[in-house]
Amino acid sequence: MSVVQPLLELQEIDGRIRSLQQEIRDIPQRKAQELERLSGAKEVLERAKAEHKNALVRVSELDLEVKARKEKILSLKQNQVSLKTNKEFQMFNLEIAKIEGDIDSFEARQIAALDDVIPIKHRVAEAEAKLKAEQAVMDVYLTELDVRLAAVQAELAEVEAARVEAAKRVSAPFAQYYERLRSKRWPVVVDLQADGVCNGCHLKQPPSVAQQVRRNQGLVTCQMCGRILYML
Ligand SMILES: [Zn+2]
Repeated sequence: MSVVQPLLELQEIDGRIRSLQQEIRDIPQRKAQELERLSGAKEVLERAKAEHKNALVRVSELDLEVKARKEKILSLKQNQVSLKTNKEFQMFNLEIAKIEGDIDSFEARQIAALDDVIPIKHRVAEAEAKLKAEQAVMDVYLTELDVRLAAVQAELAEVEAARVEAAKRVSAPFAQYYERLRSKRWPVVVDLQADGVCNGCHLKQPPSVAQQVRRNQGLVTCQMCGRILYML
């Protein structure tokens, strides 16, 4: 058995801790991404609603145009009865006919505007349904992430407890060296390949280093990256 065996066991636990910590860091990002996706669906809905509102405003504006002209005609007709000459009477008729023509045109536009409202209303309904569906999917996913987070945190607590025990089995010089290096290089303990190459940085070690590793008596490190070397 290699002299670094207890350290290898500690390193394996630290590897697990690193990946659990990474997952804990990633979960809020995954949640944020999910919420971001939902904001897209919300935007589509808001745009459709605004379009719908504008379409209704156009219809009611045209309605006001028609009403104003109908009132104008009414007032022209009321004044017409008190006119003195036939010529004036004819002029009023011409004016009324012109306004009636305008009314026809506004009413035609109003019908077209009403036709526009229908597909927009459908788009609003579609966007609402899509948002609701996405919200439901997201709720499930967010719940899963919360469950996962709790499980990861629980596992991390267990693994950290196991680490305390594993660390006790590592001798002081190994432990000190390992702790100094592990925030800078990962993994710290690597095997020396049969051809004498460090499995961390891939530098071929001098024969003396390979010899020391083979002797399996103490701490031997790579001349390039400083990782602790061992032989399988
Ligand atoms: Zn190396």
